[in-house]
Amino acid sequence: MDHEELRNWSKRAADWAADYHASLRDRPVRAPLVPGEVAARLPVAPPEAAEPMETIWADFERIVPGGMTHWQHPRFFAYFPANASPASMLAEQLANAMAAQAMLWQTSPAATEIEQGMIGWLAQALGLPAAFTGTIHDSATTATLSAVLTMREKALDWQGLAEGLSSSPRLRIYASAETHSSVDKAVRIAGIGQANLVKVPTDASLSMKPDALAGAIAADRAAGMMPAGVVLCAGGTSVGAFDRIADCIAVAQGEGLPVHVDAAWAGSAMICPEFRALWAGIEQAGSIIFNPHKWLGVQFDCAVQFLRDPGPQVRTLGLRPSYLETAGREEIVNFNEWTVPLGRRFRALKLWFTLRAYGLDGLRARIRNHVAWAREACDRLRAMPGIEIVTEPSLSLFTFRLGSDTATERLLQRINDDGRIYLTQTRHRGAYVIRVQVGQFDCTHADVMAIPAVVAELMREI
Ligand code: PLP
Repeated sequence: MDHEELRNWSKRAADWAADYHASLRDRPVRAPLVPGEVAARLPVAPPEAAEPMETIWADFERIVPGGMTHWQHPRFFAYFPANASPASMLAEQLANAMAAQAMLWQTSPAATEIEQGMIGWLAQALGLPAAFTGTIHDSATTATLSAVLTMREKALDWQGLAEGLSSSPRLRIYASAETHSSVDKAVRIAGIGQANLVKVPTDASLSMKPDALAGAIAADRAAGMMPAGVVLCAGGTSVGAFDRIADCIAVAQGEGLPVHVDAAWAGSAMICPEFRALWAGIEQAGSIIFNPHKWLGVQFDCAVQFLRDPGPQVRTLGLRPSYLETAGREEIVNFNEWTVPLGRRFRALKLWFTLRAYGLDGLRARIRNHVAWAREACDRLRAMPGIEIVTEPSLSLFTFRLGSDTATERLLQRINDDGRIYLTQTRHRGAYVIRVQVGQFDCTHADVMAIPAVVAELMREI
């Protein structure tokens, strides 16, 4: 295939994409397959000779769409969304066409400078002080790893990078059990170890108890361990828990510890001023992660980390061998030095397109609808005999169950086999519950009200 052929196939792909999106409501949300079904349709060996694109395309249509779970389906209420607004998809097409590797300023000045511009726009959009700068990662997991590595090195006065950890004191990181497993992954990868991630108890509102945080830090210091940092939760994955950010940061600051806040999902909602009370005190955080690829319509992957002072993270992650130097521009920002991978995609373009194509008002209207519709769906479920609302809506996320774990699990299985809506599960205080999150970019009131309607219908069956 050459570039002239690509011109024609791209047009066909654009038509296919439009038809695909128009057909989503007619498809089951979750792929109705058993493991191995797709693999069985692939030849075991790669082709020696080139194949015609018509054949490849026909196989794509035969094998792939029916084997996908449709994340852009308007009745996708599982996990958290991974929204792709049409404007963001368009920007990705353009970024794909240029296929730049934006590791240094000079390897694509527009990528670096638009990224800087978008961080500034987003800080304003979320109501953060202008002092915050930041960068874009592939995922919140990588950003949290970067923050935890920086906590480790700051605690060790940057000796871990040079000497390794074998003779270092036992480092301790603090988070509540409501915080995402990416924190567990970060402490494992950072060589701190799962046993040194202290899960601080939470109160009835599911916030980390600030007193318990202070107590845990004091006990660790008394035992000769080295507290290194605190990770706070602003919108937990399981049921949407929020730590009391101001109170917890006050404890951390009193102890001289850096704070990273995981707002991967809920951060997008902070474009609406009325939700900002949920993370009051955020301006005191040293690092914040939020994923525009979840709820803001900027397609996967796009994880924004705000940093009050990028210096410690750049000192931890940055390396500048001679083959990566930019002669005469030693002070220029090279974003690879802020993140784990060297190579980086031009992710800022889709932010630029999305923020402009919908405006903050358009994005706010969507999020406000999602929150209001989630509450309405929750109230309709609450009114059904047998249904128990286990956690009330946190923004647009709530959980419910049906009597026992077994009955709840059977109901969820039946819902997802049915295919009209897609929900997933979690455990809350030991009980198996069904999670509902509303956040798909194109969902309507009718799509969301399908949740109580489908549940009512299928409950009668089981
Ligand atoms: N933090 C929270 C609160 C999440 O919900 C998730 C994923 O859903 C993550 C972190 C990890 O996000 P990513 O997939 O970008 O690594």
